[in-house]
Amino acid sequence: MAKKTIEDVSVSGKRVLVRCDFNVPLDANKRITDEKRIVGALPTIEYLVKNNAKVILCSHLGRPKGEFNDKYSLAPVAARLAQLLQKEVPLAADVIGPSAKGLASALKDGDVMLLENLRFHKEEEKNDPAFAKELASMADLYVNDAFGTAHRAHASTEGVTHYLPAVAGYLIQKEIEIMGKALDNPERPFVAILGGAKVSDKIGVINNLLEKVDALLIGGGMAYTFQKALGGQIGNSLLEADKVELAKELMAKAASKGVRLLLPVDNEAGDSFSNDSLHITVHSQDIPDGFEGLDIGPKTQIIFSAEISRAKTVIWNGPMGVFEFDSYAQGTRAIARAMAECDGTTIVGGGDSAAAIELMGYAKRVSHVSTGGGASLEYMEGIELPGVAALNDK
Ligand code: AMP
Repeated sequence: MAKKTIEDVSVSGKRVLVRCDFNVPLDANKRITDEKRIVGALPTIEYLVKNNAKVILCSHLGRPKGEFNDKYSLAPVAARLAQLLQKEVPLAADVIGPSAKGLASALKDGDVMLLENLRFHKEEEKNDPAFAKELASMADLYVNDAFGTAHRAHASTEGVTHYLPAVAGYLIQKEIEIMGKALDNPERPFVAILGGAKVSDKIGVINNLLEKVDALLIGGGMAYTFQKALGGQIGNSLLEADKVELAKELMAKAASKGVRLLLPVDNEAGDSFSNDSLHITVHSQDIPDGFEGLDIGPKTQIIFSAEISRAKTVIWNGPMGVFEFDSYAQGTRAIARAMAECDGTTIVGGGDSAAAIELMGYAKRVSHVSTGGGASLEYMEGIELPGVAALNDK
């Protein structure tokens, strides 16, 4: 069911509590080292300002474990927001205390303020109703724009919706529109590429995608368990021995659904887990003892890229190899490039694949890079995200 967005309600003159994801990385001097998440929140904030709302922003930052800790203060975020919005963004000294409530009640139309780190209260992650009610008491309307925490039922993502009308901001709207359409009503061929370290992390995703895609391409560390299931020799490659039977079942499920499940045909293997290891290209079912597969090989890059270029919808989650090592980043780079060159809808699930496509310079050339790692994985698993489910239906 479609969810109401900020454009479906009147915001003028209203106090609007906006849950953002300002969980940005900070260096030792509390300088923001990547401001993507702050910049990503601007369209929603600017819309509310332009439409004369009184804007109360809130977010978590890091893991302060339920008590005040200056190290996790949102002060650097408030300062950067003030520069980007070119207006004052006062930071409350607390979350639901006198400072927050005083600033909130003094807001004028078009003003913006920021509450201190929500996780200074342990009640936030416990989804404590009294804490949620206190948060809600400062506002007339709630906007969720934090996709990265939408898979968690916390006071600021779920609890607060019991006390206020609740709608989606632009970021959440974009996530659920693009990913929702791809998963529920994709233009075909629909191809998914999964990689990353472990099969066990992606079982739910594979199971759900097998119901939907035309082809599933599997690379990364998880592919070796599938090769083993096919009777291949995988040398010292990553293996989840207790998932070999499951890999067989998933391949049988793919066959019964008419989904083409493609595994690598060749791999780059190294004699140790290091960038400088002795490096050979091998057949994927013939990795010698003493070597471990650390990337997909050149033939696989061509096959996977061709699948992507023919697709009308592509979802990618998980690197094809140990892309952190330059010597083993080629496979992941080839997939990133193929995504960028594909004319269809191209979606990169969050986490490592989002970091990889960013690093490789192709992020601007795909349709959507999800802002939530865990949240986008759960979405791909077909799990309802509590922070989205709790928003008002259209
Ligand atoms: P995930 O968080 O499950 O998406 O896994 C991402 C991690 O998987 C990255 O840090 C990669 O370095 C790692 N990875 C990918 N392929 C391999 C491989 N063949 N062997 C070991 N680690 C891998």
